[in-house]
Amino acid sequence: MLKIGVVRWRGKCSRHPRFDPCSDGPGAIKGGCARCAALAEIYDLHRRMVALMRGFAPPAVKKKLPDNFEERQIGLFE
Ligand SMILES: [Zn+2]
Repeated sequence: MLKIGVVRWRGKCSRHPRFDPCSDGPGAIKGGCARCAALAEIYDLHRRMVALMRGFAPPAVKKKLPDNFEERQIGLFE
């Protein structure tokens, strides 16, 4: 079994802080900047990892609330 926890990570090139691999793409890397190229590679690998995980096991679907859910609420001021 493999367990991977939630990963929150931020990376920014100090020379090109506005470069966003998600919206700009690798073609927007200026002058072959190694830091921007690393960000683009991290983004691509992350995207591929998420796609592999979803292909292995689709995300769990939340249980749908019953249609009469609102009616079952107990009023606080009644
Ligand atoms: Zn850069």
